[in-house]
Amino acid sequence: MGTAHSVVIVGSGFGGIGMAIRLKQAGVHDVVVLEKAGGLGGTWRDNTYPGAACDVPSHLYSFSFEPKTDWSRRFPPQAEILEYLWHCARKYEVLPRVRFGTEVIEARFDEGAALWRLSTNDGELSARILVSACGQLNRPALPSIAGRESFAGAGFHSARWDHDVDLAGKRVAVIGTGASAIQIVPEIARVAERLTVFQRSAPYVIEKPDRPYREWEKSVLASVPGAHGLSRAKIYARYESRALGFVKYPKLMKVMADRFRKNMHAQVPDPGLRARLEPDYPMGCKRILISNDYYPALTRANVELVTEGIDRVVPAGVVTRDGVEHPADVLVYATGFQSTGFLAPMKVTGRGGRELNERWRDGAEAHLGITVSGFPNLFLLYGPYTNLGHNSIIYMLESQFRYVMGCVEAIRRNGLDWIDVRPDVQDAFGREMRERLRSTVWEAGCDSWYMTSSGKVVNNWPGFTFAYRRATRRPDPRDFVARRASAS
Ligand SMILES: Cc1cc2nc3c(=O)[nH]c(=O)nc-3n(C[C@H](O)[C@H](O)[C@H](O)COP(=O)(O)OP(=O)(O)OC[C@H]3O[C@@H](n4cnc5c(N)ncnc54)[C@H](O)[C@@H]3O)c2cc1C
Repeated sequence: MGTAHSVVIVGSGFGGIGMAIRLKQAGVHDVVVLEKAGGLGGTWRDNTYPGAACDVPSHLYSFSFEPKTDWSRRFPPQAEILEYLWHCARKYEVLPRVRFGTEVIEARFDEGAALWRLSTNDGELSARILVSACGQLNRPALPSIAGRESFAGAGFHSARWDHDVDLAGKRVAVIGTGASAIQIVPEIARVAERLTVFQRSAPYVIEKPDRPYREWEKSVLASVPGAHGLSRAKIYARYESRALGFVKYPKLMKVMADRFRKNMHAQVPDPGLRARLEPDYPMGCKRILISNDYYPALTRANVELVTEGIDRVVPAGVVTRDGVEHPADVLVYATGFQSTGFLAPMKVTGRGGRELNERWRDGAEAHLGITVSGFPNLFLLYGPYTNLGHNSIIYMLESQFRYVMGCVEAIRRNGLDWIDVRPDVQDAFGREMRERLRSTVWEAGCDSWYMTSSGKVVNNWPGFTFAYRRATRRPDPRDFVARRASAS
């Protein structure tokens, strides 16, 4: 099994890289980051589709400990975020710790040795502490449409964009109208001969207050002490206030709904098209999207919105249930991700041979989204109940770094083999989540990627992010059972 490392982190997105930096700063040097892909970046490495950008302003979608004052725009484009993450990995010297091209297939807790035994495509290794930083959105979901394999042209998922395919002058079909699609559609509409957009469920799209930063703004941000912090704090407060509508008073969503309607009316003159773009579920139930060019793109002469359901894919295009064939040379699946499986397809076995996927058969559960009873010294980043509809995931990740560091320090200080969250503590947290989620807009009657197939919302945090930060400030020793090294 080779040497046992102090900490192994799985994944090198914002979660894995940030965690590695925090461990290094705390003097934990024997850390390995395993990354299945050939480069770091997770979401921002994989999603290179035209128009890919973040929905959270740049000053907030970045680590608090590494402010960047020269973002090109208010909302950062994908390439800039990816570059930022590489910069962080280099500056804080964690790059040498990353083993690219190494996928963890299986993790098994060896109770006798108090170690996690990992099997990867590139051999085996062991770790005292295992951190999963696999993200919620990195396994593309392809729809089970009949005939998909028969398509004669190029077909790919938005997160696996084929840049060798030139879309200029082509007939392109985009399946899906979610967060990625609304960024892709305007870009393709500009170059394609024809663009057909297949919509199953209309999104709520509001205006995006985006623009390039002016040179003088960048100099102020770089040279005036506190300017960047102030900008970040203002954005944080503005976004955080939206949690009220999502989780506390869904009626407040009416204000946002008015904004949506005003925006659509201004951008879509045709009442027929507007009617087809009207969502049939409460606002906020699915992610609210921001764009200034999605609706205008749909009004272009070379773009068609199809709301009839898809029956099958044929070699020459897509056939809808009404029997109409929509010819296409290129098929883009903007169909989202397998979001509720978290660590899957990794096989994770804890104490007593219990398997995580089995434990999570009815939906993923973890205390504070971080620890799972029966799986000692395993810490999840961006785990269940920690996604947001209204603010930056980086903020949540930084709360989790701090909590995990508290656990790592407690293990070291007290000479412990392991700590394991008590089942009653995890259950109580799960019950609280269920209770609080019941009154949120996410359970107001729509299917979304926040839900398991049985209709249980497992992805989202039903509250303010500052409340999550408070809850994760430091681990409470009473929440855990522990085994002292001497006992082994
Ligand atoms: C298109 C898109 C747009 C988004 N926009 C926003 C936004 O506007 N605001 C926001 O807050 N969030 C957004 N998100 C969410 C985004 O995923 C998070 O903000 C953040 O990037 C998650 O970082 P992460 O490190 O937790 O996960 P990821 O970035 O998903 O990284 C996980 C890494 O783990 C690796 N990995 C997984 N399994 C294994 C394994 N078994 N072995 C080895 N390596 C493995 C993956 O290859 C990947 O590199 C968006 C997501 C997507 C897909």
